[in-house]
Amino acid sequence: MNKRLAAAIERDNELEERGMHGDDRKTCWTHQTWAEDCAADPMHTNPSTSHYPRPA
Ligand SMILES: [Zn+2]
Repeated sequence: MNKRLAAAIERDNELEERGMHGDDRKTCWTHQTWAEDCAADPMHTNPSTSHYPRPA
């Protein structure tokens, strides 16, 4: 993980703590990467389960 990404994740964490909606993050806490780089991940395709692993 590069420094810019690490800083962006920290910033998103802070903003989210202050009430920002998780969908407005520019980074993905689950994958520790830029949101745009993992938006197609199956974990993200269903909003209602976006933060939880799917049952097998
Ligand atoms: Zn992700």
